[in-house]
Amino acid sequence: MTKLNHLIGGEQVEPASGDFFESTNPATRQPLYLAARGDAADIELAVAAAKRTFEDPRWRDLSQTRRGHLLRRLGDLIAENAEELARMETQDNGKLLREMRGQLATLPDYYHYYAGLADKIHGDVVPTSDRTVLNYTSREPLGVVGAITPWNSPMTLTSSKLAPALCAGNTVVVKPSEYTSATLLRLGELALEAGFPPGAVNVVTGFGAEAGQALVDHRDLAKISFTGSTATGSRIAAATAGRFIGSTLELGGKSPNIVFEDANIPNAAMGVVAGIFAAAGQTCIAGSRVFAHRSVHDELLDRVSERAERIRMGDPMDEATEIGPLAFEEQRDKVAGYVDLGRSEGARVLAGGRSSDGGLGGYFYEPTILVDVDNSMRVVREEIFGPVVAIMPFDTEEEVTRLANDTEYGLAAGVWTTNLARAHRMAARLDAGTVWVNTYRAMSPMSPRQGFKTSGVGVEHGTETMKEYTRLKSVWINTSEEPVADPFILRS
Ligand code: NAD
Repeated sequence: MTKLNHLIGGEQVEPASGDFFESTNPATRQPLYLAARGDAADIELAVAAAKRTFEDPRWRDLSQTRRGHLLRRLGDLIAENAEELARMETQDNGKLLREMRGQLATLPDYYHYYAGLADKIHGDVVPTSDRTVLNYTSREPLGVVGAITPWNSPMTLTSSKLAPALCAGNTVVVKPSEYTSATLLRLGELALEAGFPPGAVNVVTGFGAEAGQALVDHRDLAKISFTGSTATGSRIAAATAGRFIGSTLELGGKSPNIVFEDANIPNAAMGVVAGIFAAAGQTCIAGSRVFAHRSVHDELLDRVSERAERIRMGDPMDEATEIGPLAFEEQRDKVAGYVDLGRSEGARVLAGGRSSDGGLGGYFYEPTILVDVDNSMRVVREEIFGPVVAIMPFDTEEEVTRLANDTEYGLAAGVWTTNLARAHRMAARLDAGTVWVNTYRAMSPMSPRQGFKTSGVGVEHGTETMKEYTRLKSVWINTSEEPVADPFILRS
């Protein structure tokens, strides 16, 4: 079987331990490749390589315009290799090939956007009260950035970190999820091919408790940028707290999708289906709690369950398939466990509710609708990260606002209404970092986003995220050569 080594300092590097671990195709359970099992020794090499490159004048003094050229070239190379990358990720995590083709169609935009931004990052000249004193600010890169990412959309979620980090002049050590190592190693190779110096992008594969923890604990790390579960994010925040390094944490969610009585119900039903069954519900922004106004509740339920029962489950490589497998066995078991828990809590399974091998021997789970549920149940409160939606009725706008906000999470929310005033009211009152009205799952590298409450810390995307990958320096210059009259007076 193919063995994949780490990518460190531009070279393929075997794991110090000599150990590899297997990655399998979740649709078929067929072994795919062996990935290097990274540990603290490999992280040590990777951070050292990233630090050397960060301090190398050939990278440090590269003009911002040239950094932009490299990002543009990387985006172009991703576009040129889109089909290969899409297929690789589909085999690795079971996402639909057609979804991956869609992701790859926009992934170059992440690099092209930050390519355009690279030479527009600058500080300001700040007014002073003494005309002979000049004060200006500059934005500097931080140093070595650690990027730790999950398996559900490895390339897109890593690019949300890699593109702005490189744009600002940092160097990066990526630790992919242990379930999806292949595409990020390939992305690292493409960065080299684009002309980034060896050591600008390093990829160390392995498990969270080994490679991930070693990266988080490394003393030379200037920042950690993490996407994953709230539980791991909390551990990372605790581990880095005393070192005062920056951290961007993109965490879990339990997002409400709210359908008002004045909504376009056929479209809202499609939005509910897209919100929870796309990517088999394995998205942080999954609209896993649906609140439907009592007057349209039954119609919505009929439409959603009719569509759910028609969803074509099967081979993710087949363009006609609508739902693929869950990414690995424990994930499928976790989803099945939650539905069993829901049953025992009194929920009724209106559709789905069963595991399947999808006819391929893989880890599938049927699109599932739970009703007779309320906010006190664990299936409504906890992130399931699978194709399981809880649908509940409500009576008033005030009530649904309270129910939607009654969660520890605050990642995203959907609102379906044709009432413009209500749309704005809800957007203002929902305690979520992203609110969609009459759409769901819209996203772009241009649009900043932030998780509220336990869904995250810091902003990703847009120009706003550049603050997370730079530090601000204030420089004061005395332009007067007059003798200093009074050394005890501050100049400002
Ligand atoms: P996870 O937290 O289990 O793992 C994420 C990454 O962290 C992996 O690379 C893992 O190896 C690593 N890791 C685990 N323990 C670690 C440790 N102690 N120290 C350092 N690294 C460690 O999450 P997952 O199961 O891979 O991903 C699913 C979760 O990610 C869901 O909760 C989902 O909501 C969240 N997610 C959030 C966003 C967002 O933008 N907010 C996007 C996608 C996924």
